[in-house]
Amino acid sequence: MFEQLGLIGCGLMGGSFALAMKRAGLVKRVVGYSKSPSTTERARQMGVIDVEAPSALLAVSGADIVLLAVPVAASEATFKAIRHLVTNEMLVMDVGSTKRDVVDSARRVLRDQLGCFVPCHPIAGKEVSGVEHADPDLYAGRQVILTPIERTLVAQLGRATQLWDALGAKVKQMSPEAHDAAFAAVSHLPHLVAFALMNGIAGQAQGREFLSLAGPGFRDFSRIAASDPKMWRDILLANRQELLAQLEIFEHGVADIRRAMIDGDADTLETLIDRASAARAHWRMTQARK
Ligand code: NAP
Repeated sequence: MFEQLGLIGCGLMGGSFALAMKRAGLVKRVVGYSKSPSTTERARQMGVIDVEAPSALLAVSGADIVLLAVPVAASEATFKAIRHLVTNEMLVMDVGSTKRDVVDSARRVLRDQLGCFVPCHPIAGKEVSGVEHADPDLYAGRQVILTPIERTLVAQLGRATQLWDALGAKVKQMSPEAHDAAFAAVSHLPHLVAFALMNGIAGQAQGREFLSLAGPGFRDFSRIAASDPKMWRDILLANRQELLAQLEIFEHGVADIRRAMIDGDADTLETLIDRASAARAHWRMTQARK
């Protein structure tokens, strides 16, 4: 049980965390801060937070747990804003979609207090952002990846694990590097492809007409193209090294299919599609077992 949550970034992820903590009876009071005072006010009106803080530093004052739920590019500025009140007794976590950049900024800024920081990435979310969409069930049954580093205090890692567990999440640990490599492949690349696909179709003279004919397959494939532009701009830039490596692998895959089509090579085309189909079926089976 925590006394006070200092929530920095009262949007979808932060708001959902505060609601989940409150509903589980894990925190007595939530003090929130967001960049726009109107967001913080709305969060209070909705009962997501109890008290509006005029700054990130004041949101941390008196807190025994702090959650950064801001765009990843705002992490370093946020650590700088709060560092004077951060202590190793506090549990400080984030929810950023990339981990190496967030951990690097924590290393640069928190220094002697780095041990209290447990980097987290909940594999949960929505295409819509903002506190209006905050949902206490967002994390239930979802994976949360913790990416501790050598300086992370064992006690704080244990508290973070217990907390996510109590919110119904499935906790997994990996290094920030392994996290960013994996999510470049299974999250960041699919978003990039969805953005490019939508732009490619919509940018054609007959794009609107084509789109008006699209069915459920297209709806499934393009869903993530509707994601928040600023958030995804930050993610693609923050993890660009891993993402560019994945893009190259993807381009080889496209080139193989294009070559088989140009050559009219039906066997190769079928083999390539068969391989993809089997990999997808295997992935679904492993998901169902979880
Ligand atoms: P969101 O709904 O837009 O919320 C972000 C909040 O951060 C907004 O309330 C915004 O305030 C505030 N903010 C922005 N810059 C700030 C700053 N410098 N100081 C304090 N507050 C600031 O976005 P979200 O979906 O919750 O995303 C938050 C984090 O979760 C991101 O790092 C993202 O990578 C990660 N994440 C998102 C998802 C997802 O599906 N959405 C999934 C996993 C992880 P204003 O309202 O005033 O702009």
